[in-house]
Amino acid sequence: MRTHFDAVIIGAGPAGAACAILLAGAGWSVGLVEKQRFPRRKVCGECIAASNLPLLAALGVGAQFDALAGPEIRRIALMHRTRTVIAAMPAAADAAFPWGRALGRETLDTLLRDRACDLGVTIFQPWCVVGIDGEAGNWSCHARAIETERRVLLRSPLLIDAHGSWETLRENATTPPRLHRADDLLAFKANFTGGTLADGLLPILAFAGGYGGMVRAGGGVTTLACCVRRDRLYALRRAAPGMAVGQAVERYLRRACRGVDDALSAALRTGAWIGSGPLRPGVRAGLDAVPFQVGNAAGEAHPIVGEGMSMALQAAFLLCTRLTGQCAPALQSAAGQRALAGHYGLAWRRQFGPRLRLAAAFAHLAMHDASGALMSRLTQLFPALLTQGAIQAGKVRRVSDTLRIADA
Ligand SMILES: Cc1cc2nc3c(=O)[nH]c(=O)nc-3n(C[C@H](O)[C@H](O)[C@H](O)COP(=O)(O)OP(=O)(O)OC[C@H]3O[C@@H](n4cnc5c(N)ncnc54)[C@H](O)[C@@H]3O)c2cc1C
Repeated sequence: MRTHFDAVIIGAGPAGAACAILLAGAGWSVGLVEKQRFPRRKVCGECIAASNLPLLAALGVGAQFDALAGPEIRRIALMHRTRTVIAAMPAAADAAFPWGRALGRETLDTLLRDRACDLGVTIFQPWCVVGIDGEAGNWSCHARAIETERRVLLRSPLLIDAHGSWETLRENATTPPRLHRADDLLAFKANFTGGTLADGLLPILAFAGGYGGMVRAGGGVTTLACCVRRDRLYALRRAAPGMAVGQAVERYLRRACRGVDDALSAALRTGAWIGSGPLRPGVRAGLDAVPFQVGNAAGEAHPIVGEGMSMALQAAFLLCTRLTGQCAPALQSAAGQRALAGHYGLAWRRQFGPRLRLAAAFAHLAMHDASGALMSRLTQLFPALLTQGAIQAGKVRRVSDTLRIADA
């Protein structure tokens, strides 16, 4: 088994897999470690903003995405209590890819992983990184096979952390678990068949104690995903003792937003509700340092704007165009890598900082009943506010803008 690489990447979500494809495409040897078996479902609204479609094409999965994803998302809506306001989704600036689409994570993540494999990336799966030693230029990554408990030490001068935001990279970590807080946001997702949500409509759900979204993904499946405050979740469970948590969430969403109930009235859930969290919105402390961080490991936006995968894919391009543009000696040295991490961190903040702030503002407005009602009333009077919100959230951004920032 090969254990020495030019780069080791932890996590094969969109961020890690995209980095693996870009580096392997540039001729690097890459080890990619993923703890879960694919295909696997994942809590996510599953909408891929139009700005990412050129990136998926550049990564070599554009044709498969095109064949498998759901209808073009041409309208956006806000659902609050009994009201549903619908507005036009703005078309993206890139005329070849004007509309976003949705695709189940079990399919998207597998497509990207398989593409990395085709390019010669060595995939350790299901393997888990349980510790990291060393420094830039000389990393040692401790990995353990989930099924056999076999352990190996993976060595590389360069390490990329793309392990998301919900798990630790250390086995037997000594830091005490974070205390539960009433305002923690826990995330849930379920898929349904037979729903009546209109093709190409992306409703955002605003309700007391949380927010969510709904969309038609590939194969006629409706994805319903949401975030609910911990205190609201406790209240829901107290009100329905013995009811499974996912079912309690679904019952609440149907009562809180009539549009959800209407869309799912004849629908059948496929598979269980899945949940994870709590969310950790914000920028991570190590963004400007090594190991390099991408995707949710670098920072997380409230998913009300559905831009997490955009940030994961775009950050992979931001980082990897910089890495592959460097001369080899700069990448072998700790100082060279630290300097690069500083530039990357700056570009990341410029690119995604506004999105993080806007998403936080939307999320907090949506989660309170009074401000949710106000948003709903205002958008009823001025539906163009929804279109404008989508523009501000980055939905029309042209991919070359990303690359230009990468070159800045
Ligand atoms: C409710 C909700 C709805 C959302 N809706 C949308 C949406 O509609 N559109 C959108 O763009 N974004 C959405 N997002 C955000 C999106 O899901 C994330 O931003 C995205 O998954 C981040 O990708 P990533 O590659 O950084 O991390 P992940 O997708 O989390 O991938 C990380 C991978 O690392 C693996 N891993 C973890 N620890 C280890 C370890 N120690 N060793 C090896 N592997 C490890 C995990 O198994 C996982 O596969 C939503 C999020 C939530 C919570």
